[in-house]
Amino acid sequence: MSNFLQEFEDERKTSGRKKLGEKCGVFGVYGHPEASTMVALGLHALQHRGQEASGIVSYDGDNFYSKRALGLVDQTFNQKDVIDRLKGYLAVGHNRYATTGETLYRNIQPLYADLALGGFALGQNGNLTNARTIRQELVEHGALFQSTTDTEVFIHLVAASRKPTIHERLAEAMQQAEGGYSIVACAEDTLIGARDKHGIRPLALGKLNDSWFLASETCAFDIISAEFVREIEPGEMVVINKNGIKSYFPHKGNPKRFCIFEYIYFARPDSFMENRSVYEMRKAIGAELAKESPVENADLVVPVPDSGIPSAIGYAEAAKLPFELGIIRNHYVGRTFIEPTDQIRHLGVKLKHNANRAYLEDKIVILVDDSIVRGTTSRKIVDMVRQAGAKEVHVRISSPPTKHSCFYGIDTPSSEELLANSHDVDEICKIIHADSLAYVTTDGLYKALGEVKRNGEDRKFCDACFTGDYPVRLTDLLDQKMSKRVTELG
Ligand code: AMP
Repeated sequence: MSNFLQEFEDERKTSGRKKLGEKCGVFGVYGHPEASTMVALGLHALQHRGQEASGIVSYDGDNFYSKRALGLVDQTFNQKDVIDRLKGYLAVGHNRYATTGETLYRNIQPLYADLALGGFALGQNGNLTNARTIRQELVEHGALFQSTTDTEVFIHLVAASRKPTIHERLAEAMQQAEGGYSIVACAEDTLIGARDKHGIRPLALGKLNDSWFLASETCAFDIISAEFVREIEPGEMVVINKNGIKSYFPHKGNPKRFCIFEYIYFARPDSFMENRSVYEMRKAIGAELAKESPVENADLVVPVPDSGIPSAIGYAEAAKLPFELGIIRNHYVGRTFIEPTDQIRHLGVKLKHNANRAYLEDKIVILVDDSIVRGTTSRKIVDMVRQAGAKEVHVRISSPPTKHSCFYGIDTPSSEELLANSHDVDEICKIIHADSLAYVTTDGLYKALGEVKRNGEDRKFCDACFTGDYPVRLTDLLDQKMSKRVTELG
Protein backbone atom coordinates (compact mmCIF):
# COMPACT_ATOMS: atom_id res chain seq x y z
CA MET A 1 0.00 0.00 0.00
CA SER A 2 1.31 3.48 -0.87
CA ASN A 3 2.11 5.92 1.94
CA PHE A 4 -0.68 8.10 0.74
CA LEU A 5 -3.21 5.29 0.86
CA GLN A 6 -1.98 4.11 4.24
CA GLU A 7 -2.35 7.65 5.56
CA PHE A 8 -5.86 7.80 4.17
CA GLU A 9 -6.90 4.43 5.58
CA ASP A 10 -5.57 5.40 9.02
CA GLU A 11 -7.56 8.60 8.87
CA ARG A 12 -10.70 6.71 7.90
CA LYS A 13 -10.34 4.40 10.86
CA THR A 14 -9.78 7.16 13.38
CA SER A 15 -12.39 9.58 12.06
CA GLY A 16 -15.09 6.92 11.56
CA ARG A 17 -16.21 8.92 8.54
CA LYS A 18 -18.82 7.23 6.40
CA LYS A 19 -19.90 8.03 2.91
CA LEU A 20 -19.34 11.38 1.30
CA GLY A 21 -20.16 11.10 -2.35
CA GLU A 22 -23.13 11.81 -4.51
CA LYS A 23 -23.94 9.97 -7.66
CA CYS A 24 -26.19 12.08 -9.80
CA GLY A 25 -27.35 12.86 -13.30
CA VAL A 26 -27.19 16.22 -15.09
CA PHE A 27 -28.85 17.55 -18.22
CA GLY A 28 -28.84 20.94 -19.99
CA VAL A 29 -30.35 22.47 -23.12
CA TYR A 30 -29.75 25.69 -25.07
CA GLY A 31 -31.91 27.05 -27.89
CA HIS A 32 -35.07 24.97 -27.65
CA PRO A 33 -38.53 26.61 -27.31
CA GLU A 34 -39.55 23.93 -24.82
CA ALA A 35 -36.28 23.67 -22.96
CA SER A 36 -37.81 22.54 -19.65
CA THR A 37 -39.78 19.73 -21.31
CA MET A 38 -36.52 18.54 -22.88
CA VAL A 39 -34.76 18.63 -19.51
CA ALA A 40 -37.61 16.78 -17.76
CA LEU A 41 -37.40 14.03 -20.42
CA GLY A 42 -33.61 13.92 -20.18
CA LEU A 43 -33.76 13.64 -16.40
CA HIS A 44 -36.34 10.88 -16.71
CA ALA A 45 -33.88 8.88 -18.86
CA LEU A 46 -31.21 9.52 -16.21
CA GLN A 47 -33.41 8.54 -13.28
CA HIS A 48 -31.14 5.55 -12.47
CA ARG A 49 -28.39 8.04 -11.53
CA GLY A 50 -30.40 9.50 -8.64
CA GLN A 51 -33.87 9.00 -7.25
CA GLU A 52 -33.92 11.20 -4.18
CA ALA A 53 -34.73 14.56 -5.70
CA SER A 54 -34.69 16.49 -8.95
CA GLY A 55 -34.75 20.08 -10.12
CA ILE A 56 -34.87 22.30 -13.19
CA VAL A 57 -33.80 25.93 -13.57
CA SER A 58 -34.78 27.71 -16.81
CA TYR A 59 -34.14 31.12 -18.40
CA ASP A 60 -36.37 32.91 -20.91
CA GLY A 61 -34.25 35.94 -21.80
CA ASP A 62 -35.55 38.02 -18.88
CA ASN A 63 -36.04 35.84 -15.84
CA PHE A 64 -34.90 32.58 -14.27
CA TYR A 65 -37.45 30.03 -13.05
CA SER A 66 -36.73 27.19 -10.66
CA LYS A 67 -38.55 24.09 -9.45
CA ARG A 68 -36.86 21.61 -7.15
CA ALA A 69 -38.49 18.82 -5.17
CA LEU A 70 -37.86 15.54 -3.40
CA GLY A 71 -38.98 12.44 -5.30
CA LEU A 72 -38.79 11.05 -8.82
CA VAL A 73 -38.71 13.19 -11.96
CA ASP A 74 -42.19 12.14 -13.06
CA GLN A 75 -43.61 12.96 -9.64
CA THR A 76 -42.32 16.54 -9.76
CA PHE A 77 -42.56 17.37 -13.46
CA ASN A 78 -45.76 15.52 -14.33
CA GLN A 79 -48.05 18.56 -14.43
CA LYS A 80 -48.18 20.61 -17.59
CA ASP A 81 -48.51 23.83 -15.60
CA VAL A 82 -45.25 23.11 -13.72
CA ILE A 83 -43.38 22.78 -17.01
CA ASP A 84 -45.26 25.74 -18.52
CA ARG A 85 -44.10 27.96 -15.67
CA LEU A 86 -40.48 26.90 -16.26
CA LYS A 87 -40.37 29.19 -19.28
CA GLY A 88 -37.51 29.65 -21.66
CA TYR A 89 -35.17 28.39 -24.33
CA LEU A 90 -32.36 27.55 -21.89
CA ALA A 91 -32.57 25.14 -18.93
CA VAL A 92 -30.48 22.87 -16.73
CA GLY A 93 -31.59 19.96 -14.55
CA HIS A 94 -30.27 17.55 -11.97
CA ASN A 95 -31.20 14.20 -10.38
CA ARG A 96 -29.85 13.78 -6.91
CA TYR A 97 -28.70 10.69 -5.09
CA ALA A 98 -27.55 11.91 -1.73
CA THR A 99 -25.26 9.88 0.43
CA THR A 100 -24.38 12.36 3.15
CA GLY A 101 -27.58 11.55 5.06
CA GLU A 102 -28.90 15.03 4.42
CA THR A 103 -32.22 14.74 2.66
CA LEU A 104 -32.86 18.46 2.67
CA TYR A 105 -34.74 20.70 0.31
CA ARG A 106 -31.86 23.18 0.35
CA ASN A 107 -29.51 20.51 -1.03
CA ILE A 108 -31.60 19.87 -4.13
CA GLN A 109 -29.88 20.99 -7.32
CA PRO A 110 -29.46 22.92 -9.56
CA LEU A 111 -28.45 25.50 -6.97
CA TYR A 112 -29.32 29.06 -7.95
CA ALA A 113 -27.76 32.39 -6.89
CA ASP A 114 -28.01 36.03 -7.94
CA LEU A 115 -24.41 37.04 -8.58
CA ALA A 116 -22.83 40.37 -9.54
CA LEU A 117 -22.87 39.24 -13.19
CA GLY A 118 -26.53 38.07 -13.01
CA GLY A 119 -28.41 34.86 -12.24
CA PHE A 120 -26.42 31.62 -12.11
CA ALA A 121 -27.59 28.01 -11.65
CA LEU A 122 -25.39 24.94 -11.36
CA GLY A 123 -25.84 21.18 -10.98
CA GLN A 124 -23.04 18.70 -10.35
CA ASN A 125 -22.55 14.97 -10.77
CA GLY A 126 -19.63 13.89 -8.67
CA ASN A 127 -17.78 14.77 -5.56
CA LEU A 128 -15.14 17.33 -4.63
CA THR A 129 -12.32 15.99 -2.49
CA ASN A 130 -11.32 19.41 -1.15
CA ALA A 131 -14.79 20.94 -0.70
CA ARG A 132 -14.52 21.13 3.06
CA THR A 133 -11.12 22.77 2.89
CA ILE A 134 -12.32 25.41 0.43
CA ARG A 135 -15.55 25.84 2.32
CA GLN A 136 -13.74 26.56 5.56
CA GLU A 137 -11.58 29.22 3.90
CA LEU A 138 -14.65 30.83 2.35
CA VAL A 139 -16.57 30.77 5.63
CA GLU A 140 -13.62 32.40 7.38
CA HIS A 141 -13.89 35.18 4.82
CA GLY A 142 -17.57 35.68 5.52
CA ALA A 143 -19.33 33.35 3.07
CA LEU A 144 -22.73 32.11 4.27
CA PHE A 145 -23.41 28.63 2.95
CA GLN A 146 -27.06 27.72 2.41
CA SER A 147 -26.70 23.97 1.85
CA THR A 148 -24.51 21.11 2.97
CA THR A 149 -23.67 19.93 -0.56
CA ASP A 150 -20.15 20.35 -1.97
CA THR A 151 -21.70 21.76 -5.16
CA GLU A 152 -22.27 25.07 -3.40
CA VAL A 153 -18.51 25.57 -3.27
CA PHE A 154 -18.62 26.23 -7.03
CA ILE A 155 -21.27 28.93 -6.57
CA HIS A 156 -19.19 30.72 -3.92
CA LEU A 157 -15.97 30.47 -5.89
CA VAL A 158 -17.71 31.92 -8.97
CA ALA A 159 -19.24 34.68 -6.82
CA ALA A 160 -15.88 35.55 -5.26
CA SER A 161 -13.93 35.56 -8.53
CA ARG A 162 -12.88 38.92 -10.02
CA LYS A 163 -12.76 37.67 -13.63
CA PRO A 164 -14.88 39.67 -16.11
CA THR A 165 -17.10 36.86 -17.48
CA ILE A 166 -19.08 34.07 -15.89
CA HIS A 167 -17.26 31.30 -17.72
CA GLU A 168 -13.85 32.69 -16.77
CA ARG A 169 -15.04 32.78 -13.17
CA LEU A 170 -16.18 29.17 -13.41
CA ALA A 171 -12.84 28.23 -15.02
CA GLU A 172 -11.06 29.77 -12.05
CA ALA A 173 -13.33 27.81 -9.69
CA MET A 174 -12.50 24.59 -11.55
CA GLN A 175 -8.81 25.25 -11.04
CA GLN A 176 -9.37 25.31 -7.28
CA ALA A 177 -11.85 22.43 -6.98
CA GLU A 178 -10.36 18.93 -6.85
CA GLY A 179 -12.27 15.71 -7.34
CA GLY A 180 -14.35 13.89 -9.92
CA TYR A 181 -17.17 15.97 -11.33
CA SER A 182 -19.27 16.94 -14.31
CA ILE A 183 -21.22 20.17 -14.18
CA VAL A 184 -23.97 21.88 -16.11
CA ALA A 185 -24.51 25.57 -15.42
CA CYS A 186 -26.85 28.23 -16.72
CA ALA A 187 -26.24 31.97 -16.70
CA GLU A 188 -28.02 34.71 -18.68
CA ASP A 189 -28.15 33.42 -22.25
CA THR A 190 -25.36 30.91 -21.54
CA LEU A 191 -25.25 27.15 -21.04
CA ILE A 192 -21.97 25.80 -19.66
CA GLY A 193 -20.79 22.19 -19.36
CA ALA A 194 -17.52 21.08 -17.79
CA ARG A 195 -15.61 18.00 -16.67
CA ASP A 196 -12.92 17.48 -14.04
CA LYS A 197 -9.33 17.38 -15.23
CA HIS A 198 -9.16 13.57 -15.44
CA GLY A 199 -12.65 13.16 -16.90
CA ILE A 200 -13.62 10.81 -14.06
CA ARG A 201 -17.33 11.55 -14.37
CA PRO A 202 -19.06 11.48 -17.79
CA LEU A 203 -20.57 14.35 -19.79
CA ALA A 204 -21.71 14.25 -23.41
CA LEU A 205 -22.74 16.89 -25.96
CA GLY A 206 -25.78 16.44 -28.21
CA LYS A 207 -27.63 18.37 -30.91
CA LEU A 208 -31.13 18.49 -32.36
CA ASN A 209 -31.63 21.01 -35.21
CA ASP A 210 -30.43 24.31 -33.69
CA SER A 211 -30.57 23.20 -30.05
CA TRP A 212 -27.61 22.02 -27.99
CA PHE A 213 -27.78 19.45 -25.19
CA LEU A 214 -25.51 18.27 -22.39
CA ALA A 215 -26.14 15.00 -20.56
CA SER A 216 -24.44 12.60 -18.16
CA GLU A 217 -25.27 9.76 -20.53
CA THR A 218 -26.20 9.36 -24.19
CA CYS A 219 -29.44 7.49 -23.33
CA ALA A 220 -30.80 10.94 -22.39
CA PHE A 221 -30.27 12.10 -26.00
CA ASP A 222 -32.12 9.07 -27.39
CA ILE A 223 -35.33 9.90 -25.51
CA ILE A 224 -35.62 13.25 -27.34
CA SER A 225 -34.10 11.98 -30.61
CA ALA A 226 -31.10 14.30 -30.28
CA GLU A 227 -27.90 13.24 -31.97
CA PHE A 228 -24.74 12.54 -29.98
CA VAL A 229 -21.97 14.94 -31.06
CA ARG A 230 -19.04 14.12 -28.79
CA GLU A 231 -17.95 13.82 -25.19
CA ILE A 232 -16.72 16.82 -23.25
CA GLU A 233 -12.96 16.27 -22.83
CA PRO A 234 -11.27 15.89 -19.44
CA GLY A 235 -10.63 19.40 -18.07
CA GLU A 236 -12.75 21.00 -20.81
CA MET A 237 -15.46 23.61 -20.47
CA VAL A 238 -17.94 24.28 -23.28
CA VAL A 239 -19.80 27.59 -23.39
CA ILE A 240 -22.94 27.73 -25.51
CA ASN A 241 -24.77 30.98 -26.29
CA LYS A 242 -26.28 32.91 -29.24
CA ASN A 243 -22.84 32.98 -30.89
CA GLY A 244 -22.64 29.17 -30.94
CA ILE A 245 -20.40 26.83 -28.98
CA LYS A 246 -16.86 27.54 -27.74
CA SER A 247 -14.45 25.26 -25.98
CA TYR A 248 -12.00 26.23 -23.21
CA PHE A 249 -9.52 24.18 -21.20
CA PRO A 250 -9.15 25.37 -17.60
CA HIS A 251 -7.06 22.18 -17.21
CA LYS A 252 -4.89 20.72 -19.92
CA GLY A 253 -2.64 17.74 -20.39
CA ASN A 254 -3.87 15.51 -17.57
CA PRO A 255 -4.23 11.77 -18.20
CA LYS A 256 -7.79 10.58 -18.69
CA ARG A 257 -9.00 8.41 -15.83
CA PHE A 258 -12.62 7.68 -16.63
CA CYS A 259 -14.56 5.84 -13.90
CA ILE A 260 -14.46 2.12 -14.69
CA PHE A 261 -17.48 1.51 -12.45
CA GLU A 262 -19.69 3.39 -14.95
CA TYR A 263 -19.06 0.45 -17.31
CA ILE A 264 -19.54 -2.18 -14.64
CA TYR A 265 -22.68 -1.01 -12.93
CA PHE A 266 -23.64 2.60 -12.88
CA ALA A 267 -24.44 3.71 -16.45
CA ARG A 268 -27.53 2.55 -18.30
CA PRO A 269 -26.61 -0.34 -20.63
CA ASP A 270 -28.04 1.46 -23.69
CA SER A 271 -25.63 4.39 -23.18
CA PHE A 272 -22.35 4.83 -25.02
CA MET A 273 -19.28 5.98 -23.11
CA GLU A 274 -15.96 6.78 -24.80
CA ASN A 275 -17.57 5.42 -27.99
CA ARG A 276 -18.10 2.07 -26.33
CA SER A 277 -21.54 0.51 -25.85
CA VAL A 278 -21.95 -0.04 -22.12
CA TYR A 279 -24.03 -3.15 -22.84
CA GLU A 280 -21.36 -4.62 -25.11
CA MET A 281 -18.66 -3.91 -22.54
CA ARG A 282 -20.66 -5.70 -19.85
CA LYS A 283 -21.09 -8.71 -22.13
CA ALA A 284 -17.36 -8.69 -22.90
CA ILE A 285 -16.53 -8.62 -19.18
CA GLY A 286 -18.88 -11.59 -18.67
CA ALA A 287 -17.11 -13.47 -21.47
CA GLU A 288 -13.70 -12.78 -19.89
CA LEU A 289 -15.05 -14.01 -16.56
CA ALA A 290 -16.24 -17.24 -18.21
CA LYS A 291 -12.76 -17.79 -19.65
CA GLU A 292 -11.04 -17.05 -16.36
CA SER A 293 -13.44 -18.89 -14.02
CA PRO A 294 -15.49 -21.67 -15.63
CA VAL A 295 -17.69 -24.02 -13.60
CA GLU A 296 -17.56 -27.74 -14.34
CA ASN A 297 -20.85 -29.47 -15.21
CA ALA A 298 -22.88 -26.30 -14.80
CA ASP A 299 -26.46 -26.44 -16.15
CA LEU A 300 -27.27 -22.78 -16.64
CA VAL A 301 -26.25 -19.16 -16.14
CA VAL A 302 -28.58 -16.92 -14.10
CA PRO A 303 -28.15 -13.15 -13.73
CA VAL A 304 -28.95 -11.16 -10.63
CA PRO A 305 -31.36 -8.74 -12.31
CA ASP A 306 -31.08 -6.14 -13.61
CA SER A 307 -27.44 -5.20 -13.15
CA GLY A 308 -26.06 -8.71 -13.76
CA ILE A 309 -27.96 -9.38 -16.99
CA PRO A 310 -25.54 -8.23 -19.75
CA SER A 311 -22.49 -9.84 -18.12
CA ALA A 312 -24.46 -13.08 -17.53
CA ILE A 313 -25.39 -13.13 -21.23
CA GLY A 314 -21.69 -12.68 -22.09
CA TYR A 315 -20.73 -15.45 -19.66
CA ALA A 316 -23.38 -17.85 -21.02
CA GLU A 317 -22.39 -17.21 -24.66
CA ALA A 318 -18.70 -17.77 -23.95
CA ALA A 319 -19.35 -20.85 -21.80
CA LYS A 320 -21.92 -22.19 -24.32
CA LEU A 321 -24.47 -22.64 -21.53
CA PRO A 322 -28.17 -21.77 -21.42
CA PHE A 323 -29.01 -18.33 -20.04
CA GLU A 324 -32.18 -18.25 -17.95
CA LEU A 325 -33.97 -15.66 -15.83
CA GLY A 326 -33.78 -17.80 -12.71
CA ILE A 327 -34.51 -14.79 -10.56
CA ILE A 328 -37.36 -12.42 -11.28
CA ARG A 329 -37.16 -8.83 -10.19
CA ASN A 330 -40.09 -6.75 -9.06
CA HIS A 331 -39.56 -3.41 -10.81
CA TYR A 332 -41.70 -1.41 -8.42
CA VAL A 333 -39.01 -1.40 -5.73
CA GLY A 334 -36.02 0.96 -5.85
CA ARG A 335 -32.40 -0.16 -5.89
CA THR A 336 -31.74 -1.99 -2.62
CA PHE A 337 -28.68 0.06 -1.96
CA ILE A 338 -30.66 3.25 -1.63
CA GLU A 339 -32.45 2.20 1.53
CA PRO A 340 -30.64 3.85 4.42
CA THR A 341 -30.78 1.33 7.27
CA ASP A 342 -29.58 -2.26 7.40
CA GLN A 343 -33.02 -3.39 8.46
CA ILE A 344 -34.73 -1.86 5.44
CA ARG A 345 -31.94 -2.97 3.12
CA HIS A 346 -32.53 -6.58 4.11
CA LEU A 347 -36.25 -6.15 3.62
CA GLY A 348 -35.63 -4.43 0.28
CA VAL A 349 -33.77 -7.43 -1.11
CA LYS A 350 -36.67 -9.73 -0.25
CA LEU A 351 -39.19 -7.39 -1.77
CA LYS A 352 -37.18 -7.08 -4.93
CA HIS A 353 -36.19 -10.57 -6.06
CA ASN A 354 -37.93 -13.95 -6.29
CA ALA A 355 -36.56 -17.31 -7.43
CA ASN A 356 -37.97 -18.79 -10.63
CA ARG A 357 -38.25 -22.29 -9.16
CA ALA A 358 -39.12 -24.05 -12.45
CA TYR A 359 -35.65 -23.30 -13.79
CA LEU A 360 -33.59 -23.89 -10.67
CA GLU A 361 -34.67 -27.24 -9.23
CA ASP A 362 -31.85 -29.83 -9.27
CA LYS A 363 -29.60 -27.52 -11.31
CA ILE A 364 -25.97 -26.51 -10.96
CA VAL A 365 -26.37 -22.76 -11.24
CA ILE A 366 -23.85 -20.06 -12.14
CA LEU A 367 -25.12 -16.84 -10.60
CA VAL A 368 -23.67 -13.67 -12.17
CA ASP A 369 -23.74 -10.21 -10.58
CA ASP A 370 -21.74 -7.04 -11.18
CA SER A 371 -20.33 -6.50 -7.70
CA ILE A 372 -20.37 -7.46 -4.05
CA VAL A 373 -20.36 -4.50 -1.73
CA ARG A 374 -21.55 -5.49 1.74
CA GLY A 375 -22.54 -8.98 0.60
CA THR A 376 -26.16 -8.62 1.69
CA THR A 377 -27.63 -9.08 -1.79
CA SER A 378 -25.45 -12.04 -2.75
CA ARG A 379 -26.15 -13.98 0.44
CA LYS A 380 -29.92 -13.50 0.16
CA ILE A 381 -29.94 -14.47 -3.51
CA VAL A 382 -27.73 -17.53 -3.04
CA ASP A 383 -29.98 -18.72 -0.20
CA MET A 384 -33.06 -18.05 -2.31
CA VAL A 385 -31.71 -20.02 -5.28
CA ARG A 386 -30.77 -22.92 -3.01
CA GLN A 387 -34.17 -22.90 -1.30
CA ALA A 388 -35.71 -23.11 -4.79
CA GLY A 389 -33.98 -26.45 -5.23
CA ALA A 390 -30.64 -25.67 -6.90
CA LYS A 391 -28.01 -28.41 -6.31
CA GLU A 392 -25.05 -26.05 -6.39
CA VAL A 393 -24.72 -22.26 -6.58
CA HIS A 394 -21.51 -20.81 -8.04
CA VAL A 395 -21.20 -17.02 -7.89
CA ARG A 396 -19.28 -15.09 -10.57
CA ILE A 397 -18.74 -11.33 -10.23
CA SER A 398 -18.04 -9.09 -13.23
CA SER A 399 -15.75 -6.73 -11.31
CA PRO A 400 -12.67 -7.25 -9.14
CA PRO A 401 -13.30 -7.20 -5.36
CA THR A 402 -14.54 -3.76 -4.19
CA LYS A 403 -11.95 -3.01 -1.52
CA HIS A 404 -11.84 0.77 -1.35
CA SER A 405 -14.37 3.58 -1.06
CA CYS A 406 -15.03 5.95 -3.93
CA PHE A 407 -14.58 9.67 -3.27
CA TYR A 408 -15.28 10.85 -6.79
CA GLY A 409 -19.03 10.50 -6.96
CA ILE A 410 -20.02 6.82 -6.74
CA ASP A 411 -21.77 5.96 -3.54
CA THR A 412 -19.81 3.28 -1.70
CA PRO A 413 -19.81 2.68 2.03
CA SER A 414 -16.74 3.24 4.20
CA SER A 415 -13.99 0.69 3.65
CA GLU A 416 -14.83 -1.11 6.92
CA GLU A 417 -18.24 -1.95 5.49
CA LEU A 418 -16.82 -3.27 2.22
CA LEU A 419 -16.70 -7.03 2.58
CA ALA A 420 -13.62 -7.43 0.35
CA ASN A 421 -11.67 -4.88 2.37
CA SER A 422 -11.31 -7.26 5.28
CA HIS A 423 -12.04 -10.71 3.79
CA ASP A 424 -10.40 -12.78 1.08
CA VAL A 425 -12.35 -14.52 -1.68
CA ASP A 426 -12.63 -17.85 0.22
CA GLU A 427 -14.01 -16.09 3.28
CA ILE A 428 -16.49 -14.10 1.19
CA CYS A 429 -17.58 -17.32 -0.52
CA LYS A 430 -18.46 -18.78 2.90
CA ILE A 431 -20.20 -15.58 4.04
CA ILE A 432 -22.49 -15.54 1.01
CA HIS A 433 -23.10 -19.33 1.31
CA ALA A 434 -21.88 -20.06 -2.25
CA ASP A 435 -20.30 -23.33 -3.45
CA SER A 436 -17.65 -21.29 -5.25
CA LEU A 437 -16.92 -17.63 -5.87
CA ALA A 438 -14.75 -15.87 -8.44
CA TYR A 439 -14.29 -12.25 -9.49
CA VAL A 440 -13.01 -11.09 -12.86
CA THR A 441 -9.36 -10.05 -12.58
CA THR A 442 -8.28 -6.43 -13.14
CA ASP A 443 -6.34 -7.62 -16.20
CA GLY A 444 -9.40 -9.43 -17.52
CA LEU A 445 -11.51 -6.34 -16.96
CA TYR A 446 -9.07 -4.12 -18.87
CA LYS A 447 -8.87 -6.70 -21.64
CA ALA A 448 -12.67 -6.77 -21.98
CA LEU A 449 -12.69 -2.98 -22.26
CA GLY A 450 -10.09 -3.15 -25.01
CA GLU A 451 -7.29 -1.76 -22.88
CA VAL A 452 -4.19 -3.60 -21.80
CA LYS A 453 -3.69 -2.88 -18.13
CA ARG A 454 -0.79 -0.61 -17.47
CA ASN A 455 0.75 0.14 -14.12
CA GLY A 456 0.95 3.46 -12.37
CA GLU A 457 0.23 6.79 -13.96
CA ASP A 458 -0.47 5.48 -17.45
CA ARG A 459 -3.56 3.66 -16.32
CA LYS A 460 -6.51 4.53 -18.53
CA PHE A 461 -9.34 4.35 -15.98
CA CYS A 462 -9.99 5.36 -12.41
CA ASP A 463 -10.20 1.95 -10.74
CA ALA A 464 -9.54 3.18 -7.20
CA CYS A 465 -12.44 1.13 -5.77
CA PHE A 466 -10.54 -2.04 -6.76
CA THR A 467 -6.90 -0.98 -6.60
CA GLY A 468 -6.78 1.88 -4.07
CA ASP A 469 -4.94 3.97 -6.67
CA TYR A 470 -6.68 7.34 -6.22
CA PRO A 471 -5.87 9.72 -9.10
CA VAL A 472 -6.92 12.85 -7.19
CA ARG A 473 -5.64 13.61 -3.70
CA LEU A 474 -8.26 13.18 -0.94
CA THR A 475 -7.46 16.51 0.65
CA ASP A 476 -10.40 16.78 3.07
CA LEU A 477 -10.00 13.26 4.38
CA LEU A 478 -6.32 13.62 4.96
CA ASP A 479 -6.80 16.74 7.04
CA GLN A 480 -8.70 15.45 10.00
CA LYS A 481 -8.75 18.77 11.82
CA MET A 482 -10.42 20.30 8.84
CA SER A 483 -13.08 17.60 8.43
CA LYS A 484 -14.02 17.64 12.12
CA ARG A 485 -14.46 21.34 12.06
CA VAL A 486 -16.62 21.23 8.96
CA THR A 487 -18.71 18.30 10.18
CA GLU A 488 -20.09 20.76 12.74
CA LEU A 489 -21.19 23.04 9.92
CA GLY A 490 -23.38 20.33 8.38
P1 AMP B 1 -24.44 -5.63 -1.39
O1 AMP B 1 -25.70 -6.32 -1.03
O2 AMP B 1 -24.10 -4.54 -0.39
O3 AMP B 1 -23.28 -6.55 -1.60
O4 AMP B 1 -24.71 -4.86 -2.74
C1 AMP B 1 -24.38 -5.43 -3.95
C2 AMP B 1 -25.37 -5.01 -4.98
O5 AMP B 1 -25.48 -3.59 -5.02
C3 AMP B 1 -24.91 -5.47 -6.35
O6 AMP B 1 -25.89 -6.36 -6.82
C4 AMP B 1 -24.84 -4.24 -7.20
O7 AMP B 1 -25.65 -4.39 -8.34
C5 AMP B 1 -25.34 -3.12 -6.35
N1 AMP B 1 -24.38 -2.00 -6.26
C6 AMP B 1 -23.06 -2.03 -6.33
N2 AMP B 1 -22.53 -0.80 -6.17
C7 AMP B 1 -23.56 0.03 -5.99
C8 AMP B 1 -23.68 1.43 -5.80
N3 AMP B 1 -22.61 2.21 -5.72
N4 AMP B 1 -24.91 1.93 -5.66
C9 AMP B 1 -25.99 1.16 -5.71
N5 AMP B 1 -25.94 -0.17 -5.90
C10 AMP B 1 -24.76 -0.74 -6.04
